[in-house]
Amino acid sequence: DAYLGAIEAANGALNAYVAVTADKAREMAAASDARLAQGEGGALEGIPLGVKDLFAVEGVRTQAASHILDGFKPRYESTITANLWADGAVMLGKLNMDEFAMGSSNESSHDGPVVNPWRRTGSDVALVPGGSSGGSSAAVAARLCAGATATDTGGSIRQPAAFTGTVGIKPTYGRCSRWGIVAYASSLDQAGPIARDVRDAAILLTSMASSDPKDTTSVDRPVPDYEAAVGRSVKGLRIGIPREYRVEAMPAEIEALWQKGIATLREAGAEIVDVSLPHTKYALPAYYIVAPAEASSNLARYDGVRYGLRVPGKDIAEMYENTRAAGFGREVKRRIMVGTYVLSAGYYDAFYLQAQKVRTLIKRDFETVFADGVDALLTPTTPSAAFAIGDAKLAADPVAMYLQDVFTITVNLAGLPGIAVPAGLSGEGTPLGLQLIGRPFDEETLFATASVIE
Ligand code: GLN
Repeated sequence: DAYLGAIEAANGALNAYVAVTADKAREMAAASDARLAQGEGGALEGIPLGVKDLFAVEGVRTQAASHILDGFKPRYESTITANLWADGAVMLGKLNMDEFAMGSSNESSHDGPVVNPWRRTGSDVALVPGGSSGGSSAAVAARLCAGATATDTGGSIRQPAAFTGTVGIKPTYGRCSRWGIVAYASSLDQAGPIARDVRDAAILLTSMASSDPKDTTSVDRPVPDYEAAVGRSVKGLRIGIPREYRVEAMPAEIEALWQKGIATLREAGAEIVDVSLPHTKYALPAYYIVAPAEASSNLARYDGVRYGLRVPGKDIAEMYENTRAAGFGREVKRRIMVGTYVLSAGYYDAFYLQAQKVRTLIKRDFETVFADGVDALLTPTTPSAAFAIGDAKLAADPVAMYLQDVFTITVNLAGLPGIAVPAGLSGEGTPLGLQLIGRPFDEETLFATASVIE
């Protein structure tokens, strides 16, 4: 009731929730109370969570914040949400996001932008909460849920966490089942939590992660008790500082934040080493070929026949055309066009195949560094703090918006785990984050190291 009241009071201004499932929440909470009264109960008994609109929840609106999925209510439940409910968590509602998870500011949502609960000191300018999981980050930061599900294809958990002073982890590709999550770019998509602190994120990931016969990319390995890693000593760990992440025109305050993080880890007994990831500069162009290519294929299913919106036409071809023209927003259409182009005959070799080769080189860069005994890498999460909603420069130039992802997308291309942890405030009083990148399936080192920084 306290959370539902807080949502009622604040959501009009923040637009973090696109649906509030109050009846379902009360029902689940009552069932949870009953289990506790019986002396039973799971790890998340009674904990109220928000769910990104990308996750299928049975009988509840699941629209990926897109017009084309209008009215779609799945008759099945995503594996991740099923895992959370099985542990006793309570669902508060569906959270806003960029349309089909394409964006870094939550401005591409058909349900409208989300407002970051943070403001610059002495300013009323509304800031973005990051994207694509902007509803998740804003809701957690504003205490409109105790934690939230999110997804990360190129930074969509970590960048919003950085912009809102929350913790977000993208686990290793394969750690969580993606079954029942609307697909964006299948070789990059992973789900994870956004939470108030490192411990909460660890508890949530322990519940979310599983191997699942319904998603063959999910791995069959035991899920560790991530909470046990929180607070574990980092003495003797080797933390790499990749020199290529010192990008051109990086603001001084981001560099200072990074240095502060380095000093904190050194004081805690970690060994700091300079490392090189030489192919980093090709990550952004490779990502913005691979991700739209896969998206153009995944989005082919939205044709007015099977899901959501249908806009009639004189024959079926015209119905497809009308539906897709009306149903997809600008950014999604841009991705479909880029993706279709790079996959077409004559261009496939020059773009898509080349990008996949670059991806392999990026992955090898990380493998080399980890083989040299580095346990994790420390980088900034974003090149800036949260920017204003409607920022004219970013709105006019999609590539300027893509640059937001410069520190986060390498992790998806290589399938590695990455955590964003709040590490200080910008000169304007808004949150800034640091990112830790780990070995495949070594989320525990990330939780241990992040808990030293937070
Ligand atoms: N901003 C990136 C994009 O638009 C990443 C999005 C994501 O991780 N889902 O593709």
